[in-house]
Amino acid sequence: MNLVWFRNDLRLADNPALSAALKTGRPTRAVFVLTPEQHALHGEAPQKFEFIKAHVNNLCQRLAKLGVVLSVRQASVFADVPAVIQACCAEHQVTELYYNEAYWVNEIDRDQKVNTVLSEAGIGVHTFHSEYLLPPGTVRKQDGGMYHVFTPYKNKFIEQLKERHAQPLPVPAYQGQELAAAEPPIDVDFNLPGWVIGEQSVHAQLKDFLADHDYQQERDYPAIDGTSRLSPYLAIGVINARLCLAHALKKEGEQAFHGTWVSELIWRDFYNDLMYEYPRLAKHQTFKQEAPQSWPGDGELLAAWKAGKTGFPIIDAGMRQLTKTGWMHNRVRMLTASFLSKLCLVDWHSGEAHFMANLLDGDLASNNGGWQWSSATGCDAAPYFRIFNPTTQSEKFDPDGRYIREFVPELSELQGKSIHNPDNGQRQQCGYPLPVIDYKAARQQALDWFKSH
Ligand code: FAD
Repeated sequence: MNLVWFRNDLRLADNPALSAALKTGRPTRAVFVLTPEQHALHGEAPQKFEFIKAHVNNLCQRLAKLGVVLSVRQASVFADVPAVIQACCAEHQVTELYYNEAYWVNEIDRDQKVNTVLSEAGIGVHTFHSEYLLPPGTVRKQDGGMYHVFTPYKNKFIEQLKERHAQPLPVPAYQGQELAAAEPPIDVDFNLPGWVIGEQSVHAQLKDFLADHDYQQERDYPAIDGTSRLSPYLAIGVINARLCLAHALKKEGEQAFHGTWVSELIWRDFYNDLMYEYPRLAKHQTFKQEAPQSWPGDGELLAAWKAGKTGFPIIDAGMRQLTKTGWMHNRVRMLTASFLSKLCLVDWHSGEAHFMANLLDGDLASNNGGWQWSSATGCDAAPYFRIFNPTTQSEKFDPDGRYIREFVPELSELQGKSIHNPDNGQRQQCGYPLPVIDYKAARQQALDWFKSH
């Protein structure tokens, strides 16, 4: 009997572990291990956990049609997973385990322990790469070191990708095993609007996005639905980046390799590769060892930022979009992160944790990379003196204030430019707070502080 262990790869398409197991012709079962306390330890959004469970239920039904029973088991934390997998193998006389690799330090540690326990029990373990465009560690400088600047990394990455990318594996066909009855669905309490459940709906979303959008033109405008919104599905592997690339190539041919959208997918690989090379990043250590370790920003500023009550409409719209929908537009992630870490001088770790606690796409490497980029502490980060002006950014990227009106409804009646920075009378009338900082003074304070640290 084979066992396919599903983890961050909740899909049938381009799933090499599943395909390889089914190709053997041996009867195949599957398992998913819920680790609720591990999610809490990682500070992940409770709704992300529910989202995972909803996709597991969907996967369970689709696997049953291939003749594969998926069992859901529970372990509180990663340390308990090896015993759970071992018990599952013993229960079903499993001789071979199949899974797709994970690359962060806790996951690697968990997997090594599973491999050891199973090898001692005489069970074969077969692992595969599938969650990133290229396996981390593939793209390195002449001297073998990791690139610290994105553009040369990307150039080398594209060269390698052109050589190595292959057609994604199709959804496996029914292997003639006895049809399995799916186990009863697990309880799910997922209630964020606007997200689909199930791999087929996600593929439809990808196709619609590629068919209908001018990403290059639209991607920076938060009021426009101009990005793919695939990040929550990529984060838990309902779709993988290789499949996204294959669809982009199908639509645009070879030029897709050099397109802006694929470049964003490569950023995802870059941050994962950095975390793979420097496991200390997974422990939230600052990439630049010389970066400031203690930040003067106070708890009141942090509280106002979290609540979406800073008095800067675009910042508040972003923070409220985050808590309301579990997602925030990338341009606004950059603005809100820069606001907290640079203009308020609040330690970026607090922002990183708040994003993780609310994002459906919360991803250790991308979130850490995004925060270190924004706070000028990371690898190839925005320089400390590049400080976004929330008002001019708002005028540029939300010119008619549509995004602000959606998430800060108390300002919805304001006309013209005042939506970006209402005067005191308008604030009072709308019940909207005064700005928590004076932009000009805060900018100068930040420049002085960063320079002296
Ligand atoms: P699209 O624009 O359609 O891009 C396609 C895919 O490429 C995304 O789904 C994502 O997987 C990847 N991608 C796009 N931009 C980036 C980027 N800058 N870095 C890494 N990958 C990228 N992304 C996460 O997936 N999880 C996070 O926890 C996360 N935290 C962030 C924190 C900060 C402070 C910042 C500035 C960015 C963060 N990002 C994170 C990156 C980015 O904001 C989101 O990936 C993007 O907004 C998702 O929307 P989309 O799926 O429509 O992206």
